[in-house]
Amino acid sequence: MAALGEVGEERIRKLNASGLPAVEKATTRDRGIGPFPRLVLRGATVIDGTGAPPISPVDIVVENGRITAMDKVGLPKRVVRDELRPKPGDHEIDCRGKWVTPGFIDCHGHVGTPYHHMSGPMAPADYVYKLWLAHGVTTVREMGCLNGLAWTLDQRDRAARSEIAAPRMVAYAYFPAVNDMVKTIHTPAQAREWLRAVKEKGADGIKFFGAPPAIMQAALDECRQLGLRSGCHHAQQAVSRMNTLTTARWGLGSQEHYYGLGESLFENRVIQDYTPDYDYGDEYFRFAFAGQTFRQAAQPGSAKWNAVMEEFLELGFTFVPTFSIYDANRDLMRTRRADWHRDYTYASLWNYYQPASGGHGSYWHRWSVGNEVDWKQNYRLWMQFINEFKNRGGRVCTGSDSGFIFQTFGFGYIRELELLQEAGFTPLEVLRAATIQGAELLGLEQETGSIEIGKSADLLVHDQNPLSDFKLLYATGAMRYDEGTKKTEWPRALRHTIRGGIVYDVDQLLADVREMVAASRAASPELPVP
Ligand SMILES: [Zn+2]
Repeated sequence: MAALGEVGEERIRKLNASGLPAVEKATTRDRGIGPFPRLVLRGATVIDGTGAPPISPVDIVVENGRITAMDKVGLPKRVVRDELRPKPGDHEIDCRGKWVTPGFIDCHGHVGTPYHHMSGPMAPADYVYKLWLAHGVTTVREMGCLNGLAWTLDQRDRAARSEIAAPRMVAYAYFPAVNDMVKTIHTPAQAREWLRAVKEKGADGIKFFGAPPAIMQAALDECRQLGLRSGCHHAQQAVSRMNTLTTARWGLGSQEHYYGLGESLFENRVIQDYTPDYDYGDEYFRFAFAGQTFRQAAQPGSAKWNAVMEEFLELGFTFVPTFSIYDANRDLMRTRRADWHRDYTYASLWNYYQPASGGHGSYWHRWSVGNEVDWKQNYRLWMQFINEFKNRGGRVCTGSDSGFIFQTFGFGYIRELELLQEAGFTPLEVLRAATIQGAELLGLEQETGSIEIGKSADLLVHDQNPLSDFKLLYATGAMRYDEGTKKTEWPRALRHTIRGGIVYDVDQLLADVREMVAASRAASPELPVP
């Protein structure tokens, strides 16, 4: 079995061997002020992330990066008893007329991927981190550590020490037991040994793509014994042997994306009916037929649908749908022409998205009306399941999986909030999914995910109420027409992202990103531009 230095590096080693390097790490922090001995946010309307409705005016005291007091200091729009307010801080933010929420948790993110190197000079990690922070993401679960476990642990630890301008990171190592990508684990005993080694190396959890059943079952048992959390993308090459209900029974923590759920709901078949010339290696087939899974499954309200729902609820299971990453499948032009690509999508990332040059997720060679209609129907059924699961007490978390399929970092995360609302979540339910529920999935609910005394100061200061329109959270803002000035404006909600008491100016982060993107275009004039 591999030495500690090698476990968790199986996939990056393979990519390196084929000429694909890891993303350039962040090493220094050039933005953000603090943490301050005493930071005071005054007069805010607080939306605390637990599902509680907004309340104002509230003063929040943060000492050395931690929330130490929250005082309601009057009545809405009117402060009373000035003498009862917390004493001055070394730094203060006037939050009158502003909204404060917890920082967001992206439960499915990647700090780029070595695949992007196929399409030109890769964006550095700083580009990804600044886009996340500028969209309010203060915690990210790196699902699979695509740049390698050691790389991710380095960035996680630097972020924890505030040496880099980045969200808190949680590292889920890639479990190498699938035929179609990398397979070094061939027996249950090897799986257990590998898991003990990655745990010792410092992983927080495991990203599965499926495995032979005996290996998967042993691995999930070992995860439980070691206290390693788990999530699974039930890849098509493994799902006929175990769908999500099977792995949930074996102790899996969360299902990623949609894979495995439709198969759990099958009642008139046990394997999806593909066209005979289906080839998983051809991504057009993979994604065209993925748009038909739910149609082939038990329909809403049926006995099977209810029985599957009940069992997931009893198991305390979690869904991380990442609706946004497949959004292009139901309307390619919309996603491809999004307002932000021009200023915020890095040159090689844009090139990567294109059908001619892209790798994973660039299956646009013959995407048709029929494909889009399939996916629209697929979303309706999938969203109905996820919304009903939430209504019946189940946990649903927000993940973006950006960096593929025309979804650029940060923007893809905000799109996920829009899509949960489309699925039927109220804005407060969306916010809860994006904050405290994500923290619970990651085991960080004592540390972040809500605005409560004792927790890390992971806070967002908004100029506009995000519950009124999540589109206001995009770096490009939301389009508004002012009847008075006869001008179209693009107001943006997020003013400051506070991570562990360090205050980031969102305007500054976005200016940095625009500069990086412009430089990427200047350096590679041969690449296509949005
Ligand atoms: Zn992913």
